[in-house]
Amino acid sequence: MAPKDLVQVDMTSKDYMELEEKYGAHNYHPLPVVLARGEGVYLWDVEGKRYYDFLSAYSAVNQGHCHPKIIEALTSQAQTLTLTSRAFFNNCLGEYEKYVTEFFGYDKVLPMNSGAEADETALKLCRRWAYEKKGIKDNQAKIIVCEGNFHGRTITIISMSTDPDSYKGFGPYTPGFIKIPYNDLNALKNALEDPDVAGFLVEPIQGEAGVFVPDEGYLSGAYRLCKEKNVLFIADEVQTGIARTGRLLACDYESVRPDILILGKALSGGTMPISAVLADDEVMLTIKPGEHGSTFGGNPLASKVAIASLKVVKDENLASRAFELGEVFRDELRKINSDMIELVRGKGLLNAMIIRPMNGKEAWDVCLKMRDNGLLAKPTHQHIIRFAPPLVMTKDQVMEAVDIIRSSIEEISRL
Ligand code: PLP
Repeated sequence: MAPKDLVQVDMTSKDYMELEEKYGAHNYHPLPVVLARGEGVYLWDVEGKRYYDFLSAYSAVNQGHCHPKIIEALTSQAQTLTLTSRAFFNNCLGEYEKYVTEFFGYDKVLPMNSGAEADETALKLCRRWAYEKKGIKDNQAKIIVCEGNFHGRTITIISMSTDPDSYKGFGPYTPGFIKIPYNDLNALKNALEDPDVAGFLVEPIQGEAGVFVPDEGYLSGAYRLCKEKNVLFIADEVQTGIARTGRLLACDYESVRPDILILGKALSGGTMPISAVLADDEVMLTIKPGEHGSTFGGNPLASKVAIASLKVVKDENLASRAFELGEVFRDELRKINSDMIELVRGKGLLNAMIIRPMNGKEAWDVCLKMRDNGLLAKPTHQHIIRFAPPLVMTKDQVMEAVDIIRSSIEEISRL
């Protein structure tokens, strides 16, 4: 059968899942639901059933699905000019660079595509700065990272990971990382005694690890310790940034301005891979022409889309909305009276519920039941369900979603 014949109009969810199973690599284990349409906080499956999206594509869709202003920027630029590569200038990139650097308050931006690439870029910048500015001997620079981190899937990034699912069987690993416990300033202080340390890479909240919110004062304390030792404070805000946690950046809660800021995901409103690394000249200008780049990074289409995506965040006050709705959401979840709920935690609209398995039922079963009841979320690790809806929700929608979560847990507990 020719490939074009594979997809037919009358295909069911089951048919689509079988196609992926047969022809796609098995590197994901999706919740069994096949989505065909999205608008705002809602998704629809191929049979036309509507769901609340409580994952937002891992926080890439903060602005809601198919936001009209972002789609307008995307489609109009797509008809004009999409890609030139950085071999030439284009008439969109400079405008974006000015916009994004003013938006976040940095001298310069280095545009990339995926979050992992942006993290890699930050690591390279940090090492280069170490040799050119800090005076660390060639190939000796070290970067401190935290246990439980998630920064992506490249070989270097998994070399920093402490999660065997991420790193096991993919060695040899990239050297030059010191792993310390998260949320532990003493451990950081000790690690910083090594004069070859150039940077400290941290997620302000560990998202993939299960929405671990560090103690108040951790980020500002860590920043201070780094400054004392002339070490770059590098914040991976790929998941926490762009209003998700109730501030523009999660670091804003502690008035910390990272030396290197890593953004991704919602920079595109979920339309295409757009990531960015922001820093001041002292760091950014250590990389010279030809020493780093990407064919797609900073393309005209991405430039226009990223401007539109950030404008939506500002014009619709998504940060304060996430803050207020997050308070309501956690309060309501904590009112659910069930032995299956061990803990609810989070900030803004990045939240998690820890599930205590009961009668052989665990977080996965809760997610299946919520799906049946019209809400999509996914476990991260075995017992943690992350709840991260688009930030364009209304309070009524939050309350309706909480009703779905409550009744799903009640139904599961009865089984
Ligand atoms: N950094 C953080 C904090 C993330 O949460 C993720 C993805 O979930 C990444 C980096 C990697 O982003 P990407 O999947 O776009 O490579």
